[in-house]
Amino acid sequence: STPTPVTLIGLGPMGQAMVRTLLAAGHPVTVWNRTPSRADALVAEGATRVATPAEAVAASDLVVLSLTDYAAADAVLAAAADVLPGRTVVNLSSDTPGTTRRAAHWVADHGATLVVGGIMVPAPLVGTAAAYVYYSGPEAAFRAHERTLATLGAPRYLGEDPGLAQLLYQAQLDVFLTALSGVAHAAALAEAAGVPPTRFVPEALRTLADTPATVESGGAVGEAFETGVHPGTPSTATMMGATAAHVLGASEELGVDTALPRAVLPHYEAALAAGHGRDDWTAIFEVVRAPRE
Ligand code: NDP
Repeated sequence: STPTPVTLIGLGPMGQAMVRTLLAAGHPVTVWNRTPSRADALVAEGATRVATPAEAVAASDLVVLSLTDYAAADAVLAAAADVLPGRTVVNLSSDTPGTTRRAAHWVADHGATLVVGGIMVPAPLVGTAAAYVYYSGPEAAFRAHERTLATLGAPRYLGEDPGLAQLLYQAQLDVFLTALSGVAHAAALAEAAGVPPTRFVPEALRTLADTPATVESGGAVGEAFETGVHPGTPSTATMMGATAAHVLGASEELGVDTALPRAVLPHYEAALAAGHGRDDWTAIFEVVRAPRE
């Protein structure tokens, strides 16, 4: 079967990577960008540039958005409201789950279907084996375009709730961003003690590489989080809490920013106060989770 036409709106680094990937797979691609010149190279490579969001939406049943946030998407879709009925809009822009749910209602009220997505790799990896993309929203609309969307990265459909895709995207970035801040904070500690970042950062990479083994030590962190049973291991909440206090103390001694250790330490203090001292470090989940219903 011939590759289906796709409209791509938003030509930042991510949108440009998606257009190139779709063109390489043989899809006719129509593009629109607020700053038209960002389409110049893509037009030379085979994309069709149109002058307005309405022309872009009218060009394809499948309309993919890659914008800064959902406010940008609102502006673009409002300008194309007349031609929305019957189309599937796949928004791969970032925003909060609640915002994506409200957008899903707005799009449905205008006769179209919104599938929310969250792409989990940086732009250079779009279309490679490393790429995967969370999706949520009406399943029939997702399935109808699944094969085309798979060109961008392996699709991971999560369910009908439009908010799920960006929620999991953000949960993954929660892991990633705190790890990056950890590396920066640790390098600042080392630097303040006279160890240059070029020497320390490779050491920090060892800890990052060892983290998966720590997370899975004792077997089943997910199960401990889910059941509330936190069997004792060598990494008790007491030991880890003392360590967290030492990281804070070191930061204070060296004049390094203390916001990150001040965020970590209370997880252990509260777990100890709740009687989890001899339990595994996983007991901090009881402190950070939303209360059980
Ligand atoms: P950019 O911020 O570089 O691109 C933003 C795009 O949004 C541009 O095309 C810009 O148009 C457009 N835009 C912004 N505001 C408006 C508006 N009010 N009206 C119309 N168009 C608007 O982002 P990226 O390309 O890097 O990323 C796009 C999305 O993908 C983001 O939500 C990002 O979080 C997500 N993402 C990005 C990754 C990456 O590696 N880049 C990785 C994973 C997800 P103009 O050119 O005119 O400024």
